[in-house]
Amino acid sequence: MINIAIDGPAAAGKSTIAKRVATNLGYKYLDTGAMYRAITLFFHENSDTDLNKLAELIDIEFSQEGKLFLNDKDVTDKIRESHITKNVSQVASLREVREFLVDLQRKIASKKGYVLDGRDIGSVVLPDAELKVFMTASPEVRAKRRLIEEHSRGNMIELSTLIDEIIERDTSDMTRDISPLIQADDAVLVSTDELSIDEVTNEIVELANK
Ligand code: C5P
Repeated sequence: MINIAIDGPAAAGKSTIAKRVATNLGYKYLDTGAMYRAITLFFHENSDTDLNKLAELIDIEFSQEGKLFLNDKDVTDKIRESHITKNVSQVASLREVREFLVDLQRKIASKKGYVLDGRDIGSVVLPDAELKVFMTASPEVRAKRRLIEEHSRGNMIELSTLIDEIIERDTSDMTRDISPLIQADDAVLVSTDELSIDEVTNEIVELANK
C-alpha cells in the first residue's frame, strides 16, 4: 500500500475525489482541511488558548463514517459554517497550529494506505508520498460546485460572493510565509474543469496502480 497526496486550491473537488479514490482502492481518507477547521472552531470557543499547549488541549479524531470529533464532541457540521470558512486560513498560517497538525497527520499516515487531501501534503507533510496530485479548476467552476453544496445546506449564498471568498482564501493560502499552497515538483497536475468526477477518480486510481 502507498500514500496518495492530493493538494490544490479551495473547492477544487479534492475531498469528493479523495473519498472515491480511497473507496476504490480500499484505502482510508484523511481530510486535513477539516483538522484546520476544527482548530479554528476550538479557538472560536476558547479565545485565550495557549498556542504552546495545543497537543494537551486538543484531541481530533475521525470516526469510521468520517465524522469529526473535537474533544469527543461531533463537530462535523459546525466546522463547515461560514464564520469558520472565513477564519480558517488565518488560523492555518500559525506556526504552532501547523506543527501540531503536521505531526498528527504524519503519525496517522505512517500506517500507509491513506489518501490525504490538503494544501501542503505533497510539499511538507509527506514529501516522500508515492503519488502526488495537484488538483485545480477555475474559480468560477469551483464556486459553482460550492454553490450547490451551500444551497443544499440551506445557505443561500450568491455565486459572486462565493467566487470572492474562494479567491481570497486561495490568495491567503498561497502567500502565507509558512507552508504556502504550491504544487510539489513531482506532483501530477489534474485540471478538473472539463472532467467528470468518475474521470478524475479513474485517472488517479490508474496512477496509483502503476
Ligand atoms: O480543505 P478545506 O477547504 O476544508 O481547508 C480549509 C483551510 O485549511 C484552507 O483554506 C487552508 O487555509 C487550510 N489548510 C491548510 N493545509 C492543509 C489543509 C487545509 O493550510 N493541509
